[in-house]
Amino acid sequence: MFERYTEKARRVIFFARYEASQFGSPYIETEHLLLGLLREDKALTNRFLRSHALVEAIRKEIEERTTLRERTSTSVDLPLSNESKRVLAYAAEEAERLGHKHIGTEHLLLGLLREKDAFAAHLLNSRGLSLDRVREIVSELQNTAGQARDILEIHGEDWDLSYVQAQLVELRKFAWRKRQWQPLDTLVEISSGRIFFDVTLKADAEFKLVTGGWPREFCSVCHWELSTDGGPEHADGYTNGREWLCTECYEKFLGPLNKGSE
Ligand SMILES: [Zn+2]
Repeated sequence: MFERYTEKARRVIFFARYEASQFGSPYIETEHLLLGLLREDKALTNRFLRSHALVEAIRKEIEERTTLRERTSTSVDLPLSNESKRVLAYAAEEAERLGHKHIGTEHLLLGLLREKDAFAAHLLNSRGLSLDRVREIVSELQNTAGQARDILEIHGEDWDLSYVQAQLVELRKFAWRKRQWQPLDTLVEISSGRIFFDVTLKADAEFKLVTGGWPREFCSVCHWELSTDGGPEHADGYTNGREWLCTECYEKFLGPLNKGSE
């Protein structure tokens, strides 16, 4: 059944089966597919989830909300749950809809989002990732995919120009100012240890204030870390008051444009 899958997508299924066996689950559930995806395609998940911290948080939440059973042997061929079967059917449909011959990791991500009531979709939705947004980015990438892929370098790493351009569509909507990154104060929900960003609720007895509780942020384009402990090249960036860009991304992609419109 996986003939049309790309190598990466096949490996996602392989890792999903492995994750399910580690949790002792009798089925490969949607959250195991998601874990497989996070493990196999870091470029894809970074692109949509934007930071390594978010990826880690998803893994942690799955671990917390799963009842651990005895591990099953990895040689047992665990079946897909009904929800996971639908995810794969949706992935095939998404590939079809986009006119793609092969089923890739981006289609698996779309499939996970379409199975709306499943755990994986909840995890993704709660981190701001919606089906519409992912569809938009995947088709923008496709529109430029027929052309030769232009590669550009950010902080010495190669990035796909079409990916950067897709991000810029959103980022150009904002005004940007140069700032030094400062750790943000956060609230922590005492009962769960989870982070809450709006410190105006600090008098609420369910929360405690943590000074500098959010020590780093990541560039919205290239995921470069902004922090106070990484030296000067990590300290300065540009912000719209909510998101951050590293100096290099701002100056390369947004700086010239802003000057032109002044
Ligand atoms: Zn950057």
